[in-house]
Amino acid sequence: MSKKVLVLPGDGIGPEIMTEAERVLRFVDSKFGLNLTIDQGLVGGAAIDAEGTALPQRTFDLAKASDAILLGAVGGPKWDNLPPADRPEKGGLLKIRSELDLFGNLRPAILYPQLADASSLKPEVVSGLDILIVRELTGGIYFGQPRGIRALENGEREGFNTYVYKESEIKRIGRQAFEAARKRGGRLCSVDKANVLEVTMLWREVMIELGKEYPDVELSHMYVDNAAMQLVRAPKQFDVIVTGNMFGDILSDAAAMLTGSIGMLPSASLDINGRGMYEPCHGSAPDIAGQGKANPLATILSVAMMLRYSLAEGGAADVIEKAVEVVLDQGYRTGDIFSEGCQLVSTSEMGDAVLAAL
Ligand code: ATP
Ligand code: MG
Repeated sequence: MSKKVLVLPGDGIGPEIMTEAERVLRFVDSKFGLNLTIDQGLVGGAAIDAEGTALPQRTFDLAKASDAILLGAVGGPKWDNLPPADRPEKGGLLKIRSELDLFGNLRPAILYPQLADASSLKPEVVSGLDILIVRELTGGIYFGQPRGIRALENGEREGFNTYVYKESEIKRIGRQAFEAARKRGGRLCSVDKANVLEVTMLWREVMIELGKEYPDVELSHMYVDNAAMQLVRAPKQFDVIVTGNMFGDILSDAAAMLTGSIGMLPSASLDINGRGMYEPCHGSAPDIAGQGKANPLATILSVAMMLRYSLAEGGAADVIEKAVEVVLDQGYRTGDIFSEGCQLVSTSEMGDAVLAAL
């Protein structure tokens, strides 16, 4: 049966990087006989301009019917004055995530040896870095009720949020992380604040119980403050990190910056069945949009993750990742990863180079 992929270019540099990623996807589709059905849809600011809403019904229906979604980026200054709920991010992206129950966010942070000098850390600390952060994405303090800002009797205001996780929510993200660790280096570090927060005491207990089903995975635990320190001090000690929504938000951005190459980092957001949305970690980069300067490799690497995690085509994924290493070896660089002695190329020239390597 033909698998369905929905391509959502979005805003800013989204269309430019997606053009290259889609060429790569179509190339491997025909080369490996994957028999994919590839649709395109509008989302974010592009959809607001065309149809008055960040997530048109057609796009939503296509998203629900697809096995995987490939997204460029959404948002930009043009739509920043809209009410938050109508903006490209909340009205488009976050809505797809919550409606499709994409609770598991996988963010690899890889530092290619060819780009070791892009990091602000010493090469011996980061060169060869290859970690995966698994972040719970649809629960925790970002979604817990009750929440709000209220007036107290004495006249001052009080802000409050609720940090809550059900056992079932912890289990399902735990399973994704254990499964991912099993496919990689076999080590999983669960990050919590179990010395202070009851919700994360439960988190730790559930991870330990789950660990009994994965005797081949080495489970460890770390408090989030220590994890932040260790990520910056000696990041290569980690293989897979699993953590809740807020801690994962912070730690995954820190891990991304360790690599110094925001244009190189893919991500996946998965549901319980492995259906997912794949997108680069970076945003719509309005400052360079439409200039052919954007690095398409994060989106091309997102295609590889999509093939591996949602389409059961790990072989094709390996080939794309290998092709990216080849173009780096050949010295091709977009501006964000440029260093002296390398060849500066445009977005489409980088796409050409990847296709040639494939
Ligand atoms: P958002 O709120 O959507 O995350 P942001 O402004 O925080 O947006 P980005 O849009 O990722 O973050 O841009 C941050 C910086 O990184 C910008 O200077 C942008 O030009 C640069 N950048 C982001 N993605 C790329 C890319 N693919 N290639 C080159 N430069 C990029
Ligand atoms: Mg940002």
